[in-house]
Amino acid sequence: MENDIIKIYNELYSQYGMQNWWPGESQFEIIVGAILTQNTSWNNVSKAIDNLKRHDLMDLESFANADPDLIKKLITPAGFYNIKQKRLTAFINYLINHKDNFNRFYQLPIADIRKELLSINGIGKETADSILLYGFERPIFVIDAYTKRLFSRLGFSWMKKATYDEIQQFFMDNLPLDSKLFNEYHALIVVHCKALCKKKPLCSECHITCPSQSNK
Ligand code: SF4
Repeated sequence: MENDIIKIYNELYSQYGMQNWWPGESQFEIIVGAILTQNTSWNNVSKAIDNLKRHDLMDLESFANADPDLIKKLITPAGFYNIKQKRLTAFINYLINHKDNFNRFYQLPIADIRKELLSINGIGKETADSILLYGFERPIFVIDAYTKRLFSRLGFSWMKKATYDEIQQFFMDNLPLDSKLFNEYHALIVVHCKALCKKKPLCSECHITCPSQSNK
């Protein structure tokens, strides 16, 4: 099983190469991006992040002191701006309440820091794990709809009905505990699903070894 998961990774890597995720110039920006990207495309998130940067709001102190209505206006391209402004504010308050320069993100056991993040309003498992993996290089595998879709098609049909935790445990059990590998693997899954393994897959253009190859 472990060999299968690594083989799929190698095939994706040889097709798409290194992805160098996450796009973000600072840990604060990665946190903001992980919250803004809920239920929208990265293209829309980029526009919101550019707006925040143009107003010099991409740091904790400036963001915390900004007018909430201005934040809502600037993040409008990312959609759900009322909810997302509240989620960003909840996260900012969490950071302000723990004035330790992100040290806890590195130092707490991963289960403990994850539990803290999940207790923040609006932070779900995918967002918490994205922040930990991409912002702080903690070895935790991020699961999303693309992961379910791709691996269901690659022969792991049980994933269609599996929970986030079950799928995550599967990857964690079958891969070396390596944040760089987890980073790259999740990025490659997303890239492949956007390029070829779409809702309606473009199998004739795909070089991945796949039980759905009969579609090719
Ligand atoms: S062959 Fe088709 S279903 Fe299989 S991974 Fe490629 S695009 Fe997806």
